[in-house]
Amino acid sequence: MTTKPAAAAARATVYGYPRQGPNRELKKAVEGYWKGRVTAAELRSTAAGLRSSTWEQLAHAGIQEVPTGDFSYYDHVLDTTVMLGAIPERHRDAVQANALDGYFAMARGTQDVAPLEMTKWFDTNYHYLVPELGPDTAFTADSAKQVAELKEAHALGLAARPVLVGPVTYLLLAKPAPGVSADFAPLTLLDRLLPVYAEVLADLREAGAEWVQLDEPALVQDRTPAELNAAARAYRDLGGIPASDRPKLLVASYFDRLGEALPVLAKAPVEGLALDFTERGAAHLDDLASVGGLPGKRLVAGLVNGRNIWVNDLEKSLSTLGTLLGLADRVDVAASCSLLHVPLDTAVERDIEPQILRWLAFAKQKTTEIVTLAKGLAQGTDAITAELAANRADLASRARSPITHDPAVRARAAAITAYDSRRSHPYRARAAAQRAHLKLPLLPTTTIGSFPQTGELRTARADLRAGRIDTAGYEERIRAEISEVITFQEKAGLDVLVHGEAERNDMVQYFAEQLTGYLATRHGWVQSYGTRYVRPPILAGDISRPEPMTVRWTTYAQSLTQKPVKGMLTGPVTMLAWSFVRDDQPLEDTVGQVALALRDEVNGLEAAGTSVIQVDEPALRETLPLRAADRPAYLAWATEAFRLTTGGVRPDTQIHTHMCYAEFGDIVQAIDDLDADVISLEAARSHMRVARELASHGYPREAGPGVYDIHSPRVPSAVEAAALLRKGLEAIPAERLWVNPDCGLKTRGWPETRASLENLVAAARMVRSELPAS
Ligand code: GLN
Ligand code: ZN
Repeated sequence: MTTKPAAAAARATVYGYPRQGPNRELKKAVEGYWKGRVTAAELRSTAAGLRSSTWEQLAHAGIQEVPTGDFSYYDHVLDTTVMLGAIPERHRDAVQANALDGYFAMARGTQDVAPLEMTKWFDTNYHYLVPELGPDTAFTADSAKQVAELKEAHALGLAARPVLVGPVTYLLLAKPAPGVSADFAPLTLLDRLLPVYAEVLADLREAGAEWVQLDEPALVQDRTPAELNAAARAYRDLGGIPASDRPKLLVASYFDRLGEALPVLAKAPVEGLALDFTERGAAHLDDLASVGGLPGKRLVAGLVNGRNIWVNDLEKSLSTLGTLLGLADRVDVAASCSLLHVPLDTAVERDIEPQILRWLAFAKQKTTEIVTLAKGLAQGTDAITAELAANRADLASRARSPITHDPAVRARAAAITAYDSRRSHPYRARAAAQRAHLKLPLLPTTTIGSFPQTGELRTARADLRAGRIDTAGYEERIRAEISEVITFQEKAGLDVLVHGEAERNDMVQYFAEQLTGYLATRHGWVQSYGTRYVRPPILAGDISRPEPMTVRWTTYAQSLTQKPVKGMLTGPVTMLAWSFVRDDQPLEDTVGQVALALRDEVNGLEAAGTSVIQVDEPALRETLPLRAADRPAYLAWATEAFRLTTGGVRPDTQIHTHMCYAEFGDIVQAIDDLDADVISLEAARSHMRVARELASHGYPREAGPGVYDIHSPRVPSAVEAAALLRKGLEAIPAERLWVNPDCGLKTRGWPETRASLENLVAAARMVRSELPAS
């Protein structure tokens, strides 16, 4: 395919870039500041240096309009809260006294003052700080950060576009402040908020901004007519400001198609829209055609996926661009969303084969792809023949590779039948078999899997990596830890023991490292929240399990005790959710391969004598699609994958699952469909609400709503835990109620873990003695 130069003005841009710096300089500076080792001035200058080097690198690569204001010391939603003067009452004095310290206090809390709540940014693994608003919230404009960063970019001689969280998304992401009625809808503050946005826009205009981007990703979710009206009003008002008093407005959406919000924004008097064509691009193109395109507007086409790490199919993107040219006045090229969600640069990865590395694109490589596409659009494909040829070769190498096509894995997946994902007996028959086999007391006590990850364990892992100890030495340390964990649990009187997960760095990475088809990066850090960065593994190829992964640790633990030791695995949905996943086949096929590999592990544990096996799925809820219409299909493959993982065991082998949240109203049926024998859930903070919800749904199986909140070092007393347990008993009968903490204990210290678990056992005994003798 060749196209002639079509759009001489086509520009390349991005909405945001990873903030951390090539060697995580920002993390080090911010944490150094918290510890008092780095001064505020040093922190500011590190940050300014990172910003300018990012912009210069972007400009050098050919990005013609760099984003400003996307940088953050902690989180850009918190920065928006500051920009709008919506500082929660309890933090106001601290912010007044010292803006930087007050900012970090809002993010992290202090001894006396609670931080803002943190939650996931849409369906990504980035977490933002939730704005707290109420009927009394008074907004005031503070455009200092936005203006300063714009001026910094201008001082480098660059064309720049400030990026702001838009007013509708800001309000839709907010929650009622403490003390405000739960019915309060922050969106009712829109009329009060818009003048403040107008003021910020005027300040940016004054500072020389030609364009400002307002991010409205909340508009890709299902929205009520009232919410869509609010969006229409917001952009009618902001767009209605005389052109002399405001910059041109680019309203950006991402993570999905706009759907019913598209006609609303298409009609609004704003100068540009940015749309995501990577997530269901074809449907989005249809939507755009059906509203008659965007005549008179600038369209920024998000064509390079901003949250996966695969090279773009440049020819496919060019063909989309070709279609778009007929639909808007001017078409520019961008990533689908901020590049915040991907690592920085593939070039520093030394452990991945060079050929495979060419399949991957991190932020820096994505920038080049965007520039190439804009060049192809502006100058015709003849101007990018070399890039297209290289891209074609990389895509072909990926498609043909034995890594992405393992005949044995494919044959096995093709032979799966519905029979494989059904246990041989229904729950009731299994429960009887398990009761006879396990002989547990009523209200059995257990834990969720991990015990404290001590400094010594981390040191042992670092020693192994650095070659200071060998594998045998490392494993000796792990065995010693397991033996200590077992001894403690026996003494404490727990009924179903665990080995403690001492050997696991991370519940996904540990398995990814042992499965064929996964890649690990050395420097592929991605911001999870604040200064916490994670290195998600890359699920690149067909998945298989060459060797057992957990069996010897579990059997070693079992050899030390007469009590049952529960085997522990991470479930297939979570294995996908916390990785970068291949995009060359449906997720359903990928999750099926992972499920088969984990099924081997489950069966291997059973064969080695493990009678209780837990398959954790903490991510099942968080990967729920943004649009309700997409959820049934997701839940169908997600639950099917869990059943495929666990469906091959005997009826007297007890399958547990665990999820760490209390908000599962919309997936309660899916939880039931997992057909696990026992589920443990978070419940302590919500006073057993989940127990009541499960009961009202008629959940027929066993459940362990947590009676010990592991998110704080506080030790619950036996009396307190017993009170929660009695509450649980009001909803779930004693034959089906388990006693356990909310989640794993890896982030806790030993002293509080010991005391809390002893109290938990005491509580179970107390409440057992109150049960009528059967
Ligand atoms: N088994 C894991 C643990 O105890 C579960 C962790 C989780 O739910 N996130 O650490
Ligand atoms: Zn958990």
